Amino acid sequence: MSLSGKHALVTGGGTGIGAATAKWLAAQGAQVTLLGRRLEPLQAVAAEIGRQAFAATADVTDAGAVENAFGASRERFGRHDILVNNAGIARGGPFLRQTDEDWSAIFATNLFSIVTTTKLALPGMLESGWGRVVNVASIAGLRGSPYTTAYTASKHALVGLTRSLALEVWKKGVTVNAVCPGYVDTPMTDQTVANIQKTTGRSEAEARAEIEKLGPRGRMLTSEEVASSIGWLCLEPQSAISGATIPVGGDSF
Ligand code: NDP
Repeated sequence: MSLSGKHALVTGGGTGIGAATAKWLAAQGAQVTLLGRRLEPLQAVAAEIGRQAFAATADVTDAGAVENAFGASRERFGRHDILVNNAGIARGGPFLRQTDEDWSAIFATNLFSIVTTTKLALPGMLESGWGRVVNVASIAGLRGSPYTTAYTASKHALVGLTRSLALEVWKKGVTVNAVCPGYVDTPMTDQTVANIQKTTGRSEAEARAEIEKLGPRGRMLTSEEVASSIGWLCLEPQSAISGATIPVGGDSF
């Protein structure tokens, strides 16, 4: 299998895109650490994967907790070869109603936590001369949309981080890329659907239909569709791709 001997750490690995990515990487032979705040979903995914998986709890916005979790993960499976920065949050609403706390929480989770995790994983990748960092941005990292200012700004910033860091480390064997999905059928989108219902009075089916028609394919993506793009970037032949922002099912064109 093409990722045998590699150790991948996936943040937000207990649900949605993160869980599907962890399973995809494990199916290619990687050992996988799943990191998130809630132990239960992490353990459920780890149990599905089997002995190749390790569940580590940490809030990605707590640098000390993340450092401890990375330490435990390294003790279990060794150096991190692959880092999937997937944990993220979304809070929508009109610009004038988004609070300072909304902005802080969104940037702490969607951007600054990635500085923390990448600083922890990168030294080992540079030492070995091989590494993959995949950041889960969004189509909102490539274009604007109303009522998502803080989220969109955080994902644009993540795309900037991706492009610049890629130029710094590519010659040293490490690629840094971003995947930019449109709407994916995950717990995060369930929350968006609930918000639409609350603010517009529409039914769940109507709110979902509203989202489904936004993408060029007229439906939401599955987590597995996004996971396979993330996983593909981690495979050996993709050493020639770095600093890329891969739109997955979104309408960026
Ligand atoms: P989920 O809500 O299922 O996944 C988010 C994951 O992040 C959860 O497993 C959650 O676990 C974890 N997480 C959130 N905050 C923290 C934190 N502070 N510390 C540690 N873990 C945290 O939704 P998705 O799978 O959809 O989201 C994954 C990524 O995909 C996000 O970055 C999102 O922005 C991005 N994305 C999603 C799209 C969509 O339409 N759903 C579209 C484009 C991009 P826990 O709560 O246990 O900590």
